[in-house]
Amino acid sequence: MTPLEIKPYLSEEDLQKKVSEIGAALTKKFKGQKVVAVCVLKGSFMFYSDLIRKLETEVTCEFFGVSSYQGTSSSGEVKVTLDLTRPVQDQHVLLVEDIVDTGITMNYLKNSILARKPASLTTVALLEKPEALKVPCKLDYVGFKIANEFVVGYGLDYEGYYRNLPFIGQVQNFQ
Ligand code: 5GP
Repeated sequence: MTPLEIKPYLSEEDLQKKVSEIGAALTKKFKGQKVVAVCVLKGSFMFYSDLIRKLETEVTCEFFGVSSYQGTSSSGEVKVTLDLTRPVQDQHVLLVEDIVDTGITMNYLKNSILARKPASLTTVALLEKPEALKVPCKLDYVGFKIANEFVVGYGLDYEGYYRNLPFIGQVQNFQ
């Protein structure tokens, strides 16, 4: 694979500041409540692990694996690669996603969790591309609204790579 040219877009500092803000808002919202924090794999693992460390309440961790992307575009079909390991009925669920693009994945995840009858469902996405939405997708918390361009880093990949970048960058040289 030819190495990509990556233009820095959101710095580590920008990301950590936003994580702290969302963490503070969620701490206030969930005061005194137990929360099941659901990490959507693989892309949100880094955002998720930073965010739950800012949650000052009792948290249990669950992981939901889905894939819908091939290369740099969404296939529109959501495939579950790993399901939750415990029922979430009557519990407060926080669903943590990396990025909402067409909205198809987030809608699928929301419906899948709501079908399990949680006490409440709160959604958070680090990034949202409002121009790319194909289905209506209401989110409770959004870190940054970005242009309809492909980004990598801080958990987000291209062909499996670049997830370990500590910042988010825009890809310049797609073939
Ligand atoms: P959606 O179903 O909203 O179209 O896509 C959501 C999923 O597509 C995200 O969880 C993420 O894995 C992937 N995705 C969407 N946009 C981007 C992007 O700009 N960069 C990367 N690396 N993945 C993206």
